[in-house]
Amino acid sequence: MGFIEAIFGAGAIVMKAIRTVNQVTKNYIARVVNEISQERAKENQATPIPTPITVNIQIDIKNINLEETELEKKRARDGLLKRTELEKLQELKKQREDKFEQWQKAKTQEVVVEQVKNPDRYETSFLNNDEVHILQFHMGQVVLEKQCGCGRPMFLQHKNRPDSSLLMLNDFFWSCIGYYNHANTQCRGTQNFSTQDIGLMHKANVFELKLSNAELSQSFTPKNIQITVVDRVRQHLKVENSDVLCPIHHVPMVLREKRNHSDVVIDMFYLQCPHFGCQQLVKLKSAAQIAAFLHSKEGRGIL
Ligand SMILES: [Zn+2]
Ligand SMILES: [Zn+2]
Repeated sequence: MGFIEAIFGAGAIVMKAIRTVNQVTKNYIARVVNEISQERAKENQATPIPTPITVNIQIDIKNINLEETELEKKRARDGLLKRTELEKLQELKKQREDKFEQWQKAKTQEVVVEQVKNPDRYETSFLNNDEVHILQFHMGQVVLEKQCGCGRPMFLQHKNRPDSSLLMLNDFFWSCIGYYNHANTQCRGTQNFSTQDIGLMHKANVFELKLSNAELSQSFTPKNIQITVVDRVRQHLKVENSDVLCPIHHVPMVLREKRNHSDVVIDMFYLQCPHFGCQQLVKLKSAAQIAAFLHSKEGRGIL
């Protein structure tokens, strides 16, 4: 899609080859809408059905996962499954992938339509090393329109800094959602995150994104602010976050608190896939990610 690098599910767009803000505001919406509506027109000719909405598809995906879980529990209990049951399991996985593909298309449309209807609610930031938290704010979110060589979507990751210094733009990279799959469905595809001429159009009502990365870190240091934030985050334990989906099961992850933690807020919480036996998780290990989580739940971040 032209100069769109990726779309984050909660409504931000990563744009490449952007040199001025003007260029973005003038061209971007018209081009995106045009590209998407052409694509939809082609699809609708082939299958003349109304575009299903994301919420309904998400319910279908959950139901498929429930059926799958029953079989997986049976296998865990009995040690094996009949051939027909194994075939059923394969069929369910295929159904889930098909549904997830539908979901991505519907979600892309939803995000774009929302931006077209309410351009005042969005603003564009240019990404550089002082703005890394803007990217971090979107970590873990489902990513649309960014494809791996194998055709599957990708998600954003970053390397860890053992000295816990602030992240740099070139610490980030894209990774195939098949990265953690087993055997024949696994794909270890990764791509570097471009660090040149990158813009991010994001919601304008997030106070944390108006600060620099260093300012955000400093403002989150006082103990009293951290205590309040911990109390607020805890209110949402065991609740789903629909912006963050398991890369394998495509269901919303659920907030959990670590059993042993050092009482530091960026080491306490994580989101985990609720699917039976699934190990996938996203740690909330930065002020920006905690802010994003609270913002999605309460409409207000950490400050
Ligand atoms: Zn791949
Ligand atoms: Zn999962």
